[in-house]
Order: sequence, then structure tokens, then C-alpha cells
Amino acid sequence: MGEEPSPGLFALTPWQGAVVPARTEQGPGRWRNRGAVPIILRPRSGPEPPESVVSDTLQITDIKVDGYERVVCGTDSKSGLRAFIAVHDTTLGPALGGLRMWPYESDEAALFDVKRLSRGMSFKSAVAHTGLGGGKAVIVGDPKKLKSEALYLAMGRFIDSLGGRYITAEDVNTSIEDLEIIRRATKHVTGLARKDGGSGNPSPYTAYGVYVGIRAALGWKFGNDDPKGRTVAIQGIGAVGSALARRLIQSGATVYAADRNTERLSQLAAEIGVKPVDETQIMTMTCDVFAPCALGAVLHDESIPKFKTPIIAGAANNLLLEPRHGKMLQDRDILYAPDYVINAGGIINVSVEFNPGGYDEKVSLTKIERIPQALKELWTISREERIPTSDAADRLAERILVDARKKKRAQAMPKGR
Ligand code: NAD
Repeated sequence: MGEEPSPGLFALTPWQGAVVPARTEQGPGRWRNRGAVPIILRPRSGPEPPESVVSDTLQITDIKVDGYERVVCGTDSKSGLRAFIAVHDTTLGPALGGLRMWPYESDEAALFDVKRLSRGMSFKSAVAHTGLGGGKAVIVGDPKKLKSEALYLAMGRFIDSLGGRYITAEDVNTSIEDLEIIRRATKHVTGLARKDGGSGNPSPYTAYGVYVGIRAALGWKFGNDDPKGRTVAIQGIGAVGSALARRLIQSGATVYAADRNTERLSQLAAEIGVKPVDETQIMTMTCDVFAPCALGAVLHDESIPKFKTPIIAGAANNLLLEPRHGKMLQDRDILYAPDYVINAGGIINVSVEFNPGGYDEKVSLTKIERIPQALKELWTISREERIPTSDAADRLAERILVDARKKKRAQAMPKGR
């Protein structure tokens, strides 16, 4: 893990290039290192960003963080942009990860999040064999107040300054429409609409990955992966949950579902036959699979003892409140499909945009169908090494990254040595 920089003591490493006076304006966040000389629009190496996209008010500052290839803060006084990009690891390819907008309380909170999320993306992409590395970007601010064309154009310029080492996509509080604006300032954008040559909405692909992952879990636990006759309880029947429910019902499973949006739940009950359950009961009902597809952090001290399911496998990110909750699941003999492995269908679909021939749905589906193989690999590690499946997933990801680094180093060695 990267080391946390102390608040106010970020090690600033200005890029070579034009140094402009220390900034006096304040962005939406609070930058405590006001005396330092930041700025710069030119990377140390790699291509220079095109003149036309370089704003005279965009300021970029390097933040040295151990264990991360590059972490930068971008501020643009004209548009109010204050953002962080973390490039965790590009051993396997350019760092892909979404752009999140959130009203963080402080720069430290934003930095903590962007680092955590970018490392998670390295692991997710490694296990999913997307051929990509891990990165993430966050904009500090309230999306209801801050969103503007100027803000996204400045963000695009910020992304462009990394010369393709970081590639963005949509995430919490950003949309395809926002990405379309960003694309006017940088080509390093993925997940655009099909009509614009992108791979489109990732949710159905995430749902497909979760579906094949659930089948793998049934096979692992019961020796038969057929969902027919099984009961699945889905928490959150939004974009992913509803597509998952459809597939499961088509395969003969009985699907119970809860959602905050009771209108939508009733509509899906009528349309596809999900059985509505109260929000407070979905996690404690007896079922073969609990599929969390709403919120993160639902697996904790209070919920784990109450589960009456042998399998937990769903789309929501960061399901364990703390890493130790993986051990609690193991102790209760609940088979857990680690979130970032089973929900990788969306990123796998996006990664296909990088294929030499461009996006191809068939390639995407074939790659998503390898999620069960990754799950079985990590469940095997878990069984053999007697560690929680969540730890086994991290171990698998780390192994893949270490092997790739070794291979890269060997290739870089002069022949005959
Ligand atoms: P969504 O917003 O379309 O659906 C979430 C649903 O959960 C909504 O219908 C909401 O009303 C419901 N909900 C919220 N709180 C709830 C609660 N306490 N109890 C029951 N229902 C509740 O989101 P989505 O795109 O379907 O994603 C679902 C989860 O999967 C999210 O955690 C997301 O981060 C994760 N995920 C999504 C993708 C993707 O491709 N969309 C990829 C990877 C991970």
C-alpha cells in the first residue's frame, strides 16, 4: 500500500517546464500547501499536450506517494476545477479507471479515495486480464453546484497532460454526457456511447459477469451450477440488479428483490416476475445466493451473523466494511465471490475498445465468460492456503502483477545476459 502523506506535507515535485507564480485563488477544496511552487503544463517525458488544449489557468502539481506511479492534483481557477488523478500501476497497460465527483470534506479525503480506488482498479484489471493498469480520478465538489462545460473541459486538459497513461471513464456522479465534453479536450476517454464508437452502457455486461459468477459459485458450493430451482435474493434492482434478475429468472431461478425505489420494484415484479421483499428483510432471508447490487459496506459485524445464505455474490463495490469481515464470512462457511472479481464485466467490456479492430461485443462476452475461471482460481487459493476469499483475490492480483513486472524486466534486459 502507498504511504499516506501527512496533511500539509505533500512532497511536491514540479514537472520541468514553465513555472508560474504560486496560485492565489481557492478551488472548491482546501489545499494546505499554499506556499509551495506548483504549476506546470509539461510532463517530464512523453508527448507534450497540444497547444490548443492547454489552459493558462490549469495548474498541475505532482504529489509523491510511495507505491504509486504518479499522483497529481489539478486546479483550474476559471472553472473551479480541483481534481486528483492517481496512476497506481501501468505494468499491464495504461491505467483505466472512472472519474468520480464527490463533495469531499478535504483534499486529504479526496486523495485517500483516489488512491484507494486506483489501487483497486489495478487489482480488478489484473484479475480480469483486461490488459490495462489501474488508475482513478476524482473531482472535489458538489455535482449539483459544480458541473459545467468549462469544468469538464479543464478536466479533459488535466487528463490529457498525462499523455495517455491515465484513461478515464464514467463513475459516481459523472455521465456519458460529461465524458463527451471531456473528449473535446482529450482522446483518453472510454465508455462512450456506441454511436460515438464506444462500448456503451457497461451495466448489462456487469450483470452478465455476475450471472456467470453466481453459476460458478453454485457449482463450487453444490456441485451443480444450474440456477434452475435455486433462490436468489437481490438487494437493489437498478441497472445491474434488474438485468441480473432477468437472466436468473430466464434460467429457472426464483428471484426475490428489495429496492428503495418501491415503484420500480413493483414494475419489475409485474414485468419479469421478481418477488418483492422488504428492504429490511432481504439480507436475512433464507436463500441459496444473496446478491448485493445496491450499496457497498453491507458485510459487517452486525449483518454477517444474520445471513441465512451459503453464497454471497453480487455487483456492488467494496462490500466488506473492513478487510477482517472476509474472515468472518470464511468462519461462517459462506462462499464469498470478491466484489471486484465478479463485477468486472463492465470494465472487461470497456477494455475491448482497445482491441486492434475496435470494440467487438463477441470478444467482450468471451472475456466475461472467464470470470468463473478467475473465481475458481482464487477459491482454490483460499482453500489451499486457508485464507478468506477476499484475501485470496488480492493475492491472485498481486501474483499477476509481480509476474508481469518480472516478465517486463526480463524483456528489457539486453539479450545474452
Ligand atoms: P443503480 O443506481 O442503477 O442501482 C442501484 C439500486 O439500488 C437503485 O435502484 C437503488 O434504488 C437501490 N438501492 C439503494 N439503496 C438501497 C438499499 N438500501 N436497499 C435496497 N435497494 C437500494 O446502480 P447499478 O449501476 O445497478 O450498480 C449497482 C452496484 O453495482 C453499485 O454499487 C455499483 O457501484 C456497482 N457496480 C456497477 C457497475 C455497472 O456496470 N453499473 C459495475 C461495477 C460495479
